[in-house]
Amino acid sequence: MSGKSYNPFEMAQAQFDKVADILELDNGTRELLRTPMREYHFSIPVRMDDGTVKVFKGFRCQHNDARGPNKGGIRFHPHETADTVRALSMWMTWKCSVVDIPLGGGKGGVICDPHNLSAKEQEQICRGWIRQVHKDVGPLRDVPAPDVMTNGQHMLWMLDEYEAINGAHFPGLITGKPLGMGGSLGRTEATGYGVIYTVREALKLHGLKPENTVAAVQGFGNVAQYAIKLFCELGGKVICVSCWDHKDNVSYTYKKAAGINADELMGITDRFGGIDKSKAKEFGYEILPGDAWIEQDVDILIPAAIENQIRIDNVDKIKPRVKIIAEGANGPTTPEADAKLHERGIFVVPDFLANAGGVTCSYFEQVQCNMNYFWSKDEVLTKLDKQMTQAFHAVADLAKKRNLYMRDAAYVIAVNRVVEACKARGWV
Ligand code: NAD
Repeated sequence: MSGKSYNPFEMAQAQFDKVADILELDNGTRELLRTPMREYHFSIPVRMDDGTVKVFKGFRCQHNDARGPNKGGIRFHPHETADTVRALSMWMTWKCSVVDIPLGGGKGGVICDPHNLSAKEQEQICRGWIRQVHKDVGPLRDVPAPDVMTNGQHMLWMLDEYEAINGAHFPGLITGKPLGMGGSLGRTEATGYGVIYTVREALKLHGLKPENTVAAVQGFGNVAQYAIKLFCELGGKVICVSCWDHKDNVSYTYKKAAGINADELMGITDRFGGIDKSKAKEFGYEILPGDAWIEQDVDILIPAAIENQIRIDNVDKIKPRVKIIAEGANGPTTPEADAKLHERGIFVVPDFLANAGGVTCSYFEQVQCNMNYFWSKDEVLTKLDKQMTQAFHAVADLAKKRNLYMRDAAYVIAVNRVVEACKARGWV
C-alpha cells in the first residue's frame, strides 16, 4: 500500500472543484455544492445484553436534493467518520445524476462493529437510528439503503420502526429489502450486470467483440461475481480473480489461463467473497499473490473489491494491452494513479457510472413499492440495461466531443444536471 491516506471528503471536494472550473460555476453554486445541505449527528442509547447502556454515534448527511429525494446507504463501521459520510453523500448525488434517476445524494452511518453486537443490540441501533431521523427521512425526503455491514434485515427493522411511528405502511421508505418484503427482483445482479453493460458498450466503441477479449478482476463478492457471470455469458473470458483470505489475512489471486468458471468458484466461496484456497487448488487454480490481478496480460481490468487498489506504486504494472478499466468498486483508483491512466490513454469507466446499477435498481425498488406493483426480473434488468447504456453513451459522447477524460466527462454531466436543477428551483 502507498503510505498516503486520503480524507474522502477533501478528495470529493477536490474532484468537485475541478469540475466546477470546467463548468465555470459561480461562487454561490460552488459553495452550495461543496458541502451537504443538511447533516444530522445524534446519539443512540442502547441497552446492551449485559444490562449496561452504551451510546452509539449516528449520522445522516443529505448532500443535495434538487433533483429528488436523497438516496444512499447506511454503514455500520467502527471507523466511520463524519467526513466519510459527507463524501459518500456527495458521491451519491453525482451517481444518481449521471444515470439520470430523479434522486439526490444521501448517506448515513453508525460508529459500531456488528461483529461484536448481538442481533438484539443491532436491532435497537436500527430502531434508535430511525427514531432520531424519522422526521427527516421518508419516501419523499430521503431513502436509505444497506451499505457496509448492513443488510435487508437491518432495513426491515428500520422500516418497521418508521411505520410504527407513522401508523401506516411506507415500503418506499427504504430499499434493499428482502424479496417478498418489498425487495426488487434483479437487485442481487444489478451492480455487477451494470458494470458489464458499460463494458459491453465500451468494447463497441473500441471495435472489439467480448468473445475476443480477456479480463482480470479484483474481488469475488456480489459485484464481481455477477459481473463475471454476465461477461462470460457475452462470450468474454476472465482469467483470474483476486480476493481476501480471512484465515491468512492476505489477498490471493486465483488464476486459470483457460478461463475461470464463476459458478464453480461461487460454490467454494463464503458469504464475504472469500474463496476456499485448498478447494481452488483441487479445481486446478493457480494461486498467486493478491495483487497479481493487476499485472495480467488482458484487455480489461475490473477492480471490484475495495478502494485505493490502483495506486502510484502499482499502476505501472498494468500491461500495455489493457484498453479498458471498469471501476466496479467505489474509489479503487487514487488520484495520482488516475493521472497516469489518463496519460496512457486507458479508457476508464469511472466508479460512479460503472457501479450505478445498484442504485438504479434501488430506485426501481422504490418505484415498485410506491406503486405496490412488482415487476418480473426480466423487466427490471431490461430497464436497468437501458438506463445504464444511455448513461454510458451520454458520458462517452461528451468525452469525445470535448476531448475529456471519461471521469471528467461523467462529472461534468452529473454536476451540470444538479446545477441546472438548483437554478431551475431558484436556489442559485
Ligand atoms: P463484497 O463484500 O460482497 O465483496 C468484496 C470482495 O472484495 C470480496 O471478494 C473480498 O474478498 C474482496 N477483497 C476485499 N479486500 C481485498 C483486497 N485487499 N484484495 C483483493 N480482494 C479483496 O462487496 P461488494 O458488494 O461486491 O462491493 C465491492 C465494491 O463495490 C465496494 O467498493 C462497494 O462499495 C462497491 N459497490 C457495491 C455495490 C453493491 O450493490 N454491492 C454497489 C455500488 C458499489
